Amino acid sequence: MDFTDLYIDGTWKTSAERFDVINPATEEVLASVASADIADADAALDAAERAMADWAARTPRQRSEVLRKAWELMTARLDHFAHLITLENGKAGTDAKGEATYAAEFFRWFAEEAVRADGLITRAPASVARIIVQHKPAGLAVLITPWNYPAAMGTRKIAPALAAGCGVIIKPASETPLTMLALMPLLEEAGVPKGLVNVLPSKKTGALVDHMLHDPRVRVVSFTGSTGVGRTLLKSAADQVLKPAMELGGNAPCIVFDDADMDTAIEGTMLAKMRNLGEACTAANRIYVHEAVADEFTRRLSAAMSALKVGDGTDPSVDVGPLVNASTRDKVAEFVADAVAKGAKIECGGTVPDGKGYFYPPTVLSNVPETADCVHDEIFGPVAAIQTFTDQDDVIARANATEYGLVAYVFSEDFKRALQVCERLDYGMVGLNRGLVSDPAAPFGGTKQSGLGREGGHEGMLEFMETQYISASW
Ligand code: NAP
Repeated sequence: MDFTDLYIDGTWKTSAERFDVINPATEEVLASVASADIADADAALDAAERAMADWAARTPRQRSEVLRKAWELMTARLDHFAHLITLENGKAGTDAKGEATYAAEFFRWFAEEAVRADGLITRAPASVARIIVQHKPAGLAVLITPWNYPAAMGTRKIAPALAAGCGVIIKPASETPLTMLALMPLLEEAGVPKGLVNVLPSKKTGALVDHMLHDPRVRVVSFTGSTGVGRTLLKSAADQVLKPAMELGGNAPCIVFDDADMDTAIEGTMLAKMRNLGEACTAANRIYVHEAVADEFTRRLSAAMSALKVGDGTDPSVDVGPLVNASTRDKVAEFVADAVAKGAKIECGGTVPDGKGYFYPPTVLSNVPETADCVHDEIFGPVAAIQTFTDQDDVIARANATEYGLVAYVFSEDFKRALQVCERLDYGMVGLNRGLVSDPAAPFGGTKQSGLGREGGHEGMLEFMETQYISASW
């Protein structure tokens, strides 16, 4: 591996302490990566502060052109990044290429948004004052990302932060720091000034991030990961009243009505369940199928899941790679065992294979009882858990009965009914007759304990900006 050190102020810095990154398909060590400590965090904050002074003063068009160049360069190297993603995360080639493409698109989208930080000028309704509203870069941003999308969860934060004029320090997940490190030479080539983006892998995560969140130069904390860690970060962020952007866990319901087009429902559910091997906050976690079509749906979904080829994601014929690590696989196996003990039926899969690699087969469970743990927690693996319903109000109530509110999926050909259902679902996003909602041009984010703020769309850049209002008379 070429880039395994800390990236601070545009240079590579080694460290006394290092940690191993494992290939989940082979369980072999891929690389030994430098682990940042508090002094490194301070150096990165100093560098980001210096770089941001110049960057924020550049015109939006100048910032836009650097981001556009980053998109061009990354798009020309998708295979390279997809390969790295597969090596450290495990996801199969097509999935990894999809992620690399999605990741690159954030640079293009925010190149376009950088020049559209609209303000407002208007007459005060009851005085001679004019109300002038403008947006300014918020300050240094600390970005913390999970292992399930080693490229996209980073670019989804870096691109809007840079478009807004902010400098950043990114702390990638310890399982998958290599992709983000490999992106840094590309950003240099695109014209990102040294020091503006710093990458600090670390095994002292909690202390390192907490230290940065208490530095008075930091104004934004943008986190993607579990709800538990999100709560901890919100508490830390409270001390300096930072702007928080929190993309947290999910427990997505997927509702298939009896008037759904069955081809669309199967294709959409497969995508919602199996994109990223189910290791996604957006993964369909609870699949509610109308009783009238449940047998056909279960049979066809099981056939589609069984047809997927499991193996090392670097093999182009493989559809499904390994889970990211042993504990994630063990948790998936426990969810299945718990559901079966409570009455669920295994339609396909359900057995941990022998041999190296953290593989788990695509699995379909039917008759999943409401008491099963997988109904209440994120499965984060390739297990489709099917329940049935007959009544629309009842299924909406069951879908909403969770502390999460990231995304829901609805399959129905009756648009009047479908839109009524969408509006009653307490979720930040709904996929209607679609198993994929992620789009750089759309505001991604959840309600309730799935998070605060939005990434992508027009909202994404505003997460890194402060609104200033000037009351003026002339
Ligand atoms: P995680 O355990 O919360 O870790 C995410 C990141 O937080 C990692 O970089 C991790 O570093 C860091 N971290 C852990 N403890 C921390 C602490 N005390 N202070 C500061 N940072 C800390 O989540 P994960 O297991 O990597 O990812 C899976 C979760 O992410 C799922 O719940 C999933 O739903 C959620 N997710 C949400 C979205 C969304 O957009 N809503 C997208 C993707 C994933 P280390 O790796 O060094 O521990």
